[in-house]
Amino acid sequence: MGVSPILRTRPKSPIPRQHSPCIVTRSLFHTPAFPGEDALAKRKIAVIGIGKISQDQHLPVIDKSKDFELAACVSTRGIGHGDVPVFKTAAELYRAMPEVNLVAVCTPPSVRHAIVREALDHGKDVLMEKPPTPTISELDDLRAYAKKKNLVLFQTWHSRYNAAVDKAKSILRKQGVASVRIDWRESVRKWHPGQDWVWEAGGFGVCDPGINALSIFTKIMPFPVFVKSAVLKFPSNRQSPVDAEIVFKSSEPHQPEMSAGFNWLEESGEIWTITIQTLDGNELKLEKGGTVLKVNGKTKVEAPSEEYERIYEHFAELLKKGKSEVEDAPLRLTADAFLLASRYNVDEFHW
Ligand code: NAP
Repeated sequence: MGVSPILRTRPKSPIPRQHSPCIVTRSLFHTPAFPGEDALAKRKIAVIGIGKISQDQHLPVIDKSKDFELAACVSTRGIGHGDVPVFKTAAELYRAMPEVNLVAVCTPPSVRHAIVREALDHGKDVLMEKPPTPTISELDDLRAYAKKKNLVLFQTWHSRYNAAVDKAKSILRKQGVASVRIDWRESVRKWHPGQDWVWEAGGFGVCDPGINALSIFTKIMPFPVFVKSAVLKFPSNRQSPVDAEIVFKSSEPHQPEMSAGFNWLEESGEIWTITIQTLDGNELKLEKGGTVLKVNGKTKVEAPSEEYERIYEHFAELLKKGKSEVEDAPLRLTADAFLLASRYNVDEFHW
């Protein structure tokens, strides 16, 4: 699907790198003082944007991580965590604590391109929340810029980090796909309380959670999928959709039926389900956002959600190897849905 992850290995020689606008040197190729020292040292990381997902996941997960240690927060509102320093801007962080080599960017996607570019300019390896950027060209630029700067850029897709998702992928590889139905319904008031950015142009609207479903879909499908048609419904006082219905197509000769429905006004609880009929006649159901897999009604995998724990473990691996991972298939499908969609205005949305 789309462009596969870029994997890149750092050169072996410890060459200090120059970065515009300032010169940054860092001990990338640190030699352990004693065997096993690297295993003990935690990497210092700063979190940029201390909103809902940082407070719900990034900060508590970093607190208990064996690989990372929170060194600072960057918060326009001055929100901190524990007793680490808080900076209003990333530039202030980079000036005051040049020894912090990693940042996790947890802002809304609309401002991410500039923030990630600035981080790369200062020689930082970067973890980005999803959705990466509002446009594909910005993501392409970040991928190329990280490569040019020889830094690690990790684009996260949290819903992919579930054992049930991996199991579904391996079953579909063997059994093939007859049909797929994605139902992704939740309450915007519960999951994005008061966040007006989600309703702005480029804020993704209901496709902000919907892209999580597409991140699973594009991971598990054994063949490329494309958007065939889409219907987006916009509250008449907002610039992004509250409801989406997308039909997918493929080049498979048997033409599997595949579709997705996203809705943001579901107040009965979350419905985050992907139902797949296999060509072997079995029914797979990924439920609860990809944490549960049922086959023909029987639970095969059920694990507590530890998506962000897995994300940080994977980031540690990428850093160890000096490899970037930027997978853009979920963003491409979302962008294609916006390109092809019929648009309807519906009732106004008010918090
Ligand atoms: P949020 O609560 O609005 O937090 C985003 C934070 O980014 C804001 O609180 C603000 O933090 C900072 N920020 C906002 N505008 C900024 C700007 N112009 N420049 C610099 N910083 C700015 O949103 P969120 O729910 O945490 O979502 C953030 C990202 O995580 C989104 O891409 C979202 O899709 C993703 N995500 C969200 C959830 C969820 O459950 N909500 C789940 C998974 C992923 P400061 O005031 O500290 O600067």
